[in-house]
Amino acid sequence: MISVGEALRTILDATPVLGAERVTLLDACGRVAAEAITSTRAVPASDNSAMDGIAVRGDDVASAPARLRLIGSAPAGSVLAAPIEAGTAAKIFTGSVIPDGADTVVRVEDLDHANGWVTVRVPVARGANVRRRGEDIMPDATVVAPGTVLGPADLGVLASVGRAMVSVTRRPRVAIVSTGAELVEIDETPGPAQVVNSNAYVLAAAVRDAGADPVVLPIVRDRFEDIRARIEEAAQADVVLSTGGVSVGEFDFVRDALDAIGVERRFWKVAQKPGKPLTFGTLGRHLFFGLPGNPVSALVCFGVYVWPSLRKLAGHSAIHHPVVTARLATPVRKATSLTEFVRVHLVRDGAGWIAKPFAAQSSAVLTSLTAGAGLLVGPATETALEAGAVYPVIVLDGATMATENPSFSG
Ligand code: AMP
Ligand code: MG
Repeated sequence: MISVGEALRTILDATPVLGAERVTLLDACGRVAAEAITSTRAVPASDNSAMDGIAVRGDDVASAPARLRLIGSAPAGSVLAAPIEAGTAAKIFTGSVIPDGADTVVRVEDLDHANGWVTVRVPVARGANVRRRGEDIMPDATVVAPGTVLGPADLGVLASVGRAMVSVTRRPRVAIVSTGAELVEIDETPGPAQVVNSNAYVLAAAVRDAGADPVVLPIVRDRFEDIRARIEEAAQADVVLSTGGVSVGEFDFVRDALDAIGVERRFWKVAQKPGKPLTFGTLGRHLFFGLPGNPVSALVCFGVYVWPSLRKLAGHSAIHHPVVTARLATPVRKATSLTEFVRVHLVRDGAGWIAKPFAAQSSAVLTSLTAGAGLLVGPATETALEAGAVYPVIVLDGATMATENPSFSG
């Protein structure tokens, strides 16, 4: 039996980064750039106006009032043909190109119009209200570095420089194999000895949440040959997640099946609760996680081990769920010599967090992981977790932590 830390290291050491593929910008959000992207153009392409108003020569408006003759108008999208000469001005709009001869924009709020003439009421500094060519992006500037997690603003920058396609690390394909003679599909009514295959839904959603593509395979019964064949079929994927059949029972064939198809098994059993029977192995660049069948164990193992592995495959460098420290609200007795992942609910406490353990900590009680649960990490060396003590909590669902509205002053 190995420790949680050793298990995680073993998995991440064996996890490669996948190759690249080209996707359109609309499909690129959240993906990891696999290339450096350099701009071939300036953004903006020309000096342009930051305001609605008039384009003028700075010398003409250094003192006020200044009376100028209007010689034309330059709506956004157009370029005024005639240059601005001393004593003249042209109407201009936000984003319009600054006409030749002009170097300054006076805001419409500072103007009076009459009969083709305009009066500037206040002195305006040369260069005011002008956005410079290349102020955002200069030609040859690197706008995206490899490894960048592309967000909405990155995609806007890429659009501005005319990049419609971008090379990103491929999304991991993850096959989900549910084993168990007691399992039925969701549209069947389970008999007293049966359970609906809920793990497939849990894992498919978690895989998608991690930015990977799940493929759910049909339920497989607890027969060695069936499990071997199904895992072999699943092995086309980058990652195989099986659930159930990985413990020490007479019908637990997953490890034997992995061995039979040549998977190099790296470990079986981790000193943790829940999820002790977790097994992991590799076959070439393909990863195999034998997750326990209990729904909580499967999802806890996913959060702690599979999630970071999928994130690494997809090219991310920040691969783990966020961790906060929280004060434990009520004492928890824990298993001796095992790292225990206590399912808790996080509540805000001034600048910090309080972790409230769910009443039911059985690995069969999946509702302990609904409603934004975190996993409080109870150290292997402790036998009891005391109320008021501070522990790390792995935050499985960051969105549910955003319990407060931002406060704005003024
Ligand atoms: P096992 O790891 O195969 O011994 O299964 C442990 C427990 O998890 C048993 O109570 C199973 O009924 C339950 N279980 C196993 N696989 C699933 C599944 N796919 N969906 C829901 N529960 C499951
Ligand atoms: Mg089973």
